[in-house]
Amino acid sequence: MLVTAAIAVPQGFVPSQAVTRALAIISADSLRGNLSFIASDLLEGRDTPSRGLDIAALYIAAQFRRAGLQPAGDDGYFQTAKMLRVSPAGEAFDLRLTNGSRTLTISRDQSAVVSQKSLDLSSVPVYKIANPAGLRASAIRGAVVIVDAPPERFRLLAQAAAALQPAAFLETAVDDKGLELPRLIDAAEEHARFGDAPRLIVRDAAAVKILKEAQAGETGITVSIKLPAPTAVPVTVRNVAALLPGSDPALRDRYVLLTAHYDHTGRDSSGVVYAGANDDGSGTVSVIEIARALAGARVHPRRSIVFLTFFGEEEGGLGSRYYTGHPLFALAKTVADLNLEQVGRTDSTAGPQTSNATVTGFQYSNIPHTLQRAGELTGVKVYETPNADEFFDRSDNQTFAEHGIPAHTIVVAFQFPGYHETSDVWPKIDFTNMARVDRMIALATVMLADSPDPPRWNAANPKGTRYRKARTVR
Ligand SMILES: [Zn+2]
Repeated sequence: MLVTAAIAVPQGFVPSQAVTRALAIISADSLRGNLSFIASDLLEGRDTPSRGLDIAALYIAAQFRRAGLQPAGDDGYFQTAKMLRVSPAGEAFDLRLTNGSRTLTISRDQSAVVSQKSLDLSSVPVYKIANPAGLRASAIRGAVVIVDAPPERFRLLAQAAAALQPAAFLETAVDDKGLELPRLIDAAEEHARFGDAPRLIVRDAAAVKILKEAQAGETGITVSIKLPAPTAVPVTVRNVAALLPGSDPALRDRYVLLTAHYDHTGRDSSGVVYAGANDDGSGTVSVIEIARALAGARVHPRRSIVFLTFFGEEEGGLGSRYYTGHPLFALAKTVADLNLEQVGRTDSTAGPQTSNATVTGFQYSNIPHTLQRAGELTGVKVYETPNADEFFDRSDNQTFAEHGIPAHTIVVAFQFPGYHETSDVWPKIDFTNMARVDRMIALATVMLADSPDPPRWNAANPKGTRYRKARTVR
């Protein structure tokens, strides 16, 4: 198939005077100043959740406020996420499964519990539901319930079962790679699915076998559990969001996102700080700086621009997933996401990267062409990295791509010395280069927001097919 719409931007595009002036505002000193705070030891590595993370969020909001951008969250610039922090069960934990004459004791490392209260269940029958016919109130009330259904039917079935007040839900781990229980769970989603019932997850191979082989309905299996203290504790974390309203009445309810994650991995057990200056303090301060520059322009781009920084990327895209689960602007009207990662260090393990930038999923959509054109106008070479597709699903852009929104991560260096180590500190950043790269990104953001046609997935590239199919009509 011939892709005639490969270039979303008219040939010969020349930025207006207003845009050129806005780009000139982006400065190395401003980036350095902001990053020296965001990546300071006093923010303790911005773990999710932590006081350092909260202070970083407050600082980002203050910078958006200073720039005169509109608050776009549910609480000013904050999108407040009520989460459950899940910690491992303590020493006194005891979980047993009895099937006929056989009793299995399941160890702490072979199980996980999501519970907001202590538990003491003794020989409670396990009841398995495979379809709505199994929703018998008398069997479910006070029982331990297994919902045996594919993902598309699981939620409704679990909700219906939760309404009948089981003692707990019981699940088997999906694979043997380990218990992939996240440290943080969306509290509203957990409550919507399981009500107030606790959730037991086991991966012990013998237990998994018994539970999988058990017939639907009364299984004849019983569960006993002692859990002295809650394992799930409510915490609040925040995405930070600001809006630059579009200037075209016909397009201002369409949105281009500029995103980065502001969290990092915190401290180790001896208190040593992982400052995360390049990952992803650099993306965070770039979002702040580009927001500041574009907010000052006399003429706004036609579509609206949303500046977003996320918590919990290091925990697996938690902040961006929270956003798409509770979107501040309709996802069907969101035309693109430019996500920034590691845009500060030029000492890539692949060699020096001055005046260079690259992008994940280069052939997945026509956005990289816009970045290239913006790079030609700002002195940055935007190039295709052969193995960059491997990185496509390793940052928050993936969350938006799964919703069909053309979304890429822009980086200067995929790999650099000290990645996820204590040596990722702000004095190692090349701020002059970062300012140049940020001008390219700012211009590309404007070009995407101004373009007559929204960006498109590349229909000729099979790797982008699943994302293209996820696109809802807008
Ligand atoms: Zn990162």
